[in-house]
Amino acid sequence: MDYVNGPGRNHLFVPGPVNIPDQVIRAMSRNNEDYRSPAIPALTKVLIEDVKKIFKTTSGTPFLFPTTGTGAWESALTNTLSPGDRIVSFLIGQFSLLWIDQQQRLKFNVDVVESDWGQGANLDILASKIAEDKAHTIKAICIVHNETATGVTNNLATVRKILDHYQHPALFLVDGVSSICALDFRMDEWGVDVALTGSQKALSLPTGLGIVCASPKALEATKTAKSVRVFFDWNDYLKFYKLGTYWPYTPSIQLLYGLRAALDLIFEEGLDNVIARHGRLGKATRLAVEAWGLKNCTQKEECFSDTVTAVIVPSYIDSSEIVRRAWKRYNLSLGLGLNKVAGKVFRIGHLGNLNELQLLGCLAGVEMVLKDVGYPVKLGSGVAAASAFLQNSTPLIPSRI
Ligand code: PLP
Repeated sequence: MDYVNGPGRNHLFVPGPVNIPDQVIRAMSRNNEDYRSPAIPALTKVLIEDVKKIFKTTSGTPFLFPTTGTGAWESALTNTLSPGDRIVSFLIGQFSLLWIDQQQRLKFNVDVVESDWGQGANLDILASKIAEDKAHTIKAICIVHNETATGVTNNLATVRKILDHYQHPALFLVDGVSSICALDFRMDEWGVDVALTGSQKALSLPTGLGIVCASPKALEATKTAKSVRVFFDWNDYLKFYKLGTYWPYTPSIQLLYGLRAALDLIFEEGLDNVIARHGRLGKATRLAVEAWGLKNCTQKEECFSDTVTAVIVPSYIDSSEIVRRAWKRYNLSLGLGLNKVAGKVFRIGHLGNLNELQLLGCLAGVEMVLKDVGYPVKLGSGVAAASAFLQNSTPLIPSRI
């Protein structure tokens, strides 16, 4: 299988799973332990407190499920809603599509608000639906904060404003899988009722933890929610939280130690510095795309994602060929275009434990691949645009000041 290996490091620029820092890898390199010993509950107790910081909540209750983002979705829905409940959900790309599919399979009555891929969620339509819904038939709003398939970030503060304006009691459920811990996210301030993420994204851990955070209102909703739930039942967790043993079933010991190390790195850098770093990396990537003469899948500046950029290729190029070649020739992993935008876009993930020079390496690789597939790019043009910006904007490394 030496075909899989190449010299040097793989440049992993898919928008998750992302690079795992060495400190996290080392922290996870350990034996199993008895999770009923005092050590694991002590570790978990602090993790649960610390995880609240990345959601920017003091009132929320976090759950660390051994699952992925998809399981976290299911946990958010089944703990708060009953089959037949009307929910408003926004279809703007592959991940919102998959969440809607799950909502429909769980038998909710999904009111889908669709936009062209590359656009953000249509919040004007939300406003009119909420305004009309005097009887409060809408039980929840489900929205993907950052649509990873198209590189679109939605405005969550506006959703909260609309709900507050009409004093509408709908629950506010947010997929923060490719946003939390990388983009500005404020659970308490925006009145989010359930927020969730997956460990393999901005936290830079292996896949396997679905982190769900529930507001007091969401916890209250579990008392009447009739959806069938077993593995993801918050009440099982809460029972063990009360006992101080924390786990209704076996956690991944290694992931818990990994989460500890990942959070330590984030707190050492400072969460707001982490978010600012993603802002720089996103902007540098967009400047490179512009210098190549290519277009971002989203044209609206307010929707630009600082964790992933989807780049539209000219119609004579198959974007999948760019992704294939990048891996085969330059050991660079880029994201494929998914579903409706398959063949039309490739994606550059710029999230997680990643720095400016790593990104420039990726951008240099993209330029070479673009030339390989016949696009008339000037080598160095994107790198020059991105590095001119980064040279001006990169601060000293916070922990080295
Ligand atoms: N939500 C978003 C925004 C995602 O990007 C993804 C995966 O990339 C998911 C949900 C699904 O997460 P998972 O693949 O961990 O189940």
